[in-house]
Amino acid sequence: MATRIVVVGAGPVGAVLALAAARQGLEVTLLEAGTAVDESPRAATLHPSTLEMLGELGLMDEVVERGLVARYFDHWDRPSRSLIARLDHGLLADVTPYPFVVQLEQHKLQRMALARLAGYDTVDIHLGATVTGIDQDATGVVVTAERDGETERFTGDYAVGTDGGRSTVRKSQGIAFDGYTWPERFLVLTTTFDFQAEWDCSYRNYFADPEEWVNLFKVAGDDGRGRWRAVFPAPADETDEEAMSDAAVHRRLSRLSEHGDPAADVVHRKTYRVHQRVAATFRSGRVFLAGDAAHVNNPIGGLGLNCGIHDAVEFAAAVTEVDSGADDARLDLYERRRRELNIEFVQQQTVANKKRLEETDPEQRRLRAAELAATAADPVRHRAMLMRSSLLESVGKAPQMV
Ligand SMILES: Cc1cc2nc3c(=O)[nH]c(=O)nc-3n(C[C@H](O)[C@H](O)[C@H](O)COP(=O)(O)OP(=O)(O)OC[C@H]3O[C@@H](n4cnc5c(N)ncnc54)[C@H](O)[C@@H]3O)c2cc1C
Repeated sequence: MATRIVVVGAGPVGAVLALAAARQGLEVTLLEAGTAVDESPRAATLHPSTLEMLGELGLMDEVVERGLVARYFDHWDRPSRSLIARLDHGLLADVTPYPFVVQLEQHKLQRMALARLAGYDTVDIHLGATVTGIDQDATGVVVTAERDGETERFTGDYAVGTDGGRSTVRKSQGIAFDGYTWPERFLVLTTTFDFQAEWDCSYRNYFADPEEWVNLFKVAGDDGRGRWRAVFPAPADETDEEAMSDAAVHRRLSRLSEHGDPAADVVHRKTYRVHQRVAATFRSGRVFLAGDAAHVNNPIGGLGLNCGIHDAVEFAAAVTEVDSGADDARLDLYERRRRELNIEFVQQQTVANKKRLEETDPEQRRLRAAELAATAADPVRHRAMLMRSSLLESVGKAPQMV
């Protein structure tokens, strides 16, 4: 009999993990507490390294069709309204078939993966099933879930927690989630206002500003007509109600337009708590962690979900190898490698990105801007920066079976 994985959480990482495992011939039980896909605005940027993986899973045509292809990525200085650097993913054309990012809302990816899963009779999907605990012994796992007031048990060879930052699976194994929570929250405002006409900008933009940084991204929207997400810091002393009030929304967005009123076209507003945390281990016997259950970071750089999808694909590959006779150490390698790569590439970059945007010291701001402009002007450094920010460098790091 094929190996069975019990996947806890059918968010984008769990859904992609289940699909990657099913395509390899593994059996999957997918347990999801919710009964509907969460459409709140979270991840929207899929980097070239991730697109390669989604291509392998047969999803790329749909990803491009439902998303926006974005070759360029801008760094701006907001006070002077000047473009510091325009990064060009086209420079990666010799190393990837996808020298661009795709702006795709994460709920679309989640839906695509779930739709594909419906075609596998080796995959059981249980919605409305909230996992409450996991038992394991030398031969397998038993996952307990509550659904409609009933307790159900699901067995498998391995369990993987893709149940998000508050992971029940992680807590059930007593795994620490080391790191910290930023004092400010992030406010995401979605508007149909046309920022490209205002700024002549790319679909992805970072605006450094000592007073209040902002990121601006275009997504297709469910209707395909396009809309912009503006992400701002909301300081600790500003309540959610204040941050989302019409007055505060108008004050923030008006600083992004000299010619119009982006606040008039706001269609959605939401605040998020933001953390930098990594689980102390991604493995406890037959129980594993992937995605936000294993690591969380601030979204500046668009790396969290990308790294989670890399976890998903690598975990499915590792279990497949063990199913075909590889030593159990292959699963240790998953845990060690994914954890190290998250710290080296995702935690470090996202903290540095945030620092660069919020810098208040004028001399430091000038130096950082000059450094960025010099990097963009030098094809070798420009390419190296994109290799890192797109996680292509991390994927290229050879696994070390120590
Ligand atoms: C504002 C914002 C912008 C972002 N932008 C980007 C970006 O551009 N690029 C990027 O890469 N990342 C980005 N991220 C991060 C990204 O959203 C997360 O990394 C991503 O959602 C992680 O997916 P996941 O499947 O691991 O977890 P989640 O999306 O949290 O999904 C977890 C799933 O598990 C289910 N679940 C939870 N508990 C249980 C239980 N006990 N039993 C069963 N099911 C359970 C939940 O219902 C949910 O469906 C952003 C985040 C935010 C907040």
